[in-house]
Amino acid sequence: MSPTRYVIVGGSAAGMAAAQSIRELDAHGDILILSAEADAPYYRPLIPYIVTQKKTAEEIALMGQGPYTARDIHVRLNSPAISVDTGARVVNVLGGDAVPYDKLLIATGARPYIPPEIKGVDTPGVYAPRTLADARSLAARAGMARHAVMAGGGLLNLKTSFALLERGVAVTLVVASPEVLSQVMEPDGAALIRAALEKVGLRILTGRNVVEVLAGPNGVSGVRLDTGEELPCEILCIGKGVRPNVEFLEGSGIVVERGVVADEYTACSVPDVYTAGDVAITFDPITGKRIMTALWTNAVEMGRCAGRNMAGHPTVYSGTFGVLNATQVADVPFVSMGIVHTSGTPYEVHVHATANTYRKVVFSEDGKRLIGATLVGDISCAGFYRHLIRERTPVNGLKAEIIGQRLHYGHFIRW
Ligand SMILES: Cc1cc2nc3c(=O)[nH]c(=O)nc-3n(C[C@H](O)[C@H](O)[C@H](O)COP(=O)(O)OP(=O)(O)OC[C@H]3O[C@@H](n4cnc5c(N)ncnc54)[C@H](O)[C@@H]3O)c2cc1C
Repeated sequence: MSPTRYVIVGGSAAGMAAAQSIRELDAHGDILILSAEADAPYYRPLIPYIVTQKKTAEEIALMGQGPYTARDIHVRLNSPAISVDTGARVVNVLGGDAVPYDKLLIATGARPYIPPEIKGVDTPGVYAPRTLADARSLAARAGMARHAVMAGGGLLNLKTSFALLERGVAVTLVVASPEVLSQVMEPDGAALIRAALEKVGLRILTGRNVVEVLAGPNGVSGVRLDTGEELPCEILCIGKGVRPNVEFLEGSGIVVERGVVADEYTACSVPDVYTAGDVAITFDPITGKRIMTALWTNAVEMGRCAGRNMAGHPTVYSGTFGVLNATQVADVPFVSMGIVHTSGTPYEVHVHATANTYRKVVFSEDGKRLIGATLVGDISCAGFYRHLIRERTPVNGLKAEIIGQRLHYGHFIRW
C-alpha cells in the first residue's frame, strides 16, 4: 500500500503539532508542510525576544525542540497555498505547483487586523508584529527610534511595549477602552496591571484612538489621535486583534464562517480535510458557543487532535475557552479564564481584592458551577479552577472555600 500523503498548510503551532502527532501514529506516511513564510517554523510568542535582541532566530526555532522532534517532516518554505481543489484533491501553490493530498490540514492561523480608519499605515515604521521577519525589522528600527506609540491595549501590544522599553525606546500605549486588557478582564482587575505598567515607565492614554500616521523623511514621525492630539514617534505598533487566513479557500467547498468550521473531530465540511489553530472555528466548553481563539496552547492541543484524526485515530476535541490567558505583565502575574466579563449578566460574582491582588470568581446563574476566574497578583489555585471550569464540575462543598480563597489540594483529597 502506498504511504498516505498528508499535506499541512501552515507550519506553526497547529501545523507542527499535527505533523508530530501524525508521525507518532504513522511511521511511513509522507508529511509535507507548506509554509508561506521564508523562515523555518519558530515559537511565535517569543518574537519579542528578537526585538530585545536577547534571543536569536535559531534559539526560538520550533523543529528539534521540546515536543517538535519528529523525523521525516518536510517543510517547504516560501510556498503559500493559493487555492484548494477538493474534487481533484490538490493544493495549488504560488508559482504553479499542484500538490496532491490524501489528508489535508488547514492550519494557516491569523494575521493582524489593521483598522481601515487609520490613515497612512504603509509608512515605514508602522508595524503589527506577527512574524519573525516583522520582529527583525522592528528590532532594527528600535535602534534609531526614541518614541513608539502602541495602538491597542491587548497582550501582544503589551509584550512588544516591554521589548521596546528594554531597547530604551519611550512607549505610549493608546487604548480605546477605559482600561488595558479589556478583552481578557474588566477594568477593576486591570487597574492593578495598569499601575504596574506605569511604574515600569509605560505611558497610558485611555479612551482614545490613533487615526492617522504622520510621515517624515525617515518614515513615521508621529501619530494623530481622534482627540486631535499629535504624538511624536518613529514607531507605531498596531495591536487590534487578528483575522483568520481563509481567502485561499474560496471556491473549495470548505465551509468558512469567518474561520474554518470544524466539527468535534476537527474535520471540515469536505471529506479528509481538517483544521486547527487560530484559523479554526471551534466551540467553548463553558458556553457551548462557536468561537475562535488566538492562543498558542489551544493551537497545539487542537493540532495534535487533528493529527490523530488524520492518521485514522478518531479523537474528539474538547474545545477551548474563549478567554484563557496566563502570563506576567511588569512583574504582576495574571490568569483570566472562562467568563470574565460579568457586568449586566445574571452570574454569581465574588471579588476578593487587596492592595496588590485581585481575585474574581464567577459562578453559573444557579450557583452550582464555576464558569470563570480573573486572578491578578495572586494566581494560586488557577490550575484547580481551570479543571473545575473545563470539566463543568458541580462545586458542591468546595464553593465556600473558593469564595473564601481557601481552596487547596487537601480539599480535593477529601472531596
Ligand atoms: C507577539 C506575539 C506574542 C504572543 N504571545 C502569546 C502567548 O503568550 N500565549 C499564547 O497562547 N499565544 C500567544 N500568541 C498567539 C500565538 O502565537 C498564536 O495563537 C499561534 O501562533 C497560532 O498558531 P497557528 O498554528 O494556528 O497559526 P500561526 O502561528 O498564525 O501560523 C500560521 C502559519 O501559516 C502560514 N500561512 C498563512 N496562510 C498560508 C497559506 N495560504 N499557505 C501557506 N502558509 C500560510 C502563516 O504564514 C504562518 O506561518 C502570541 C502571538 C504573537 C504574534
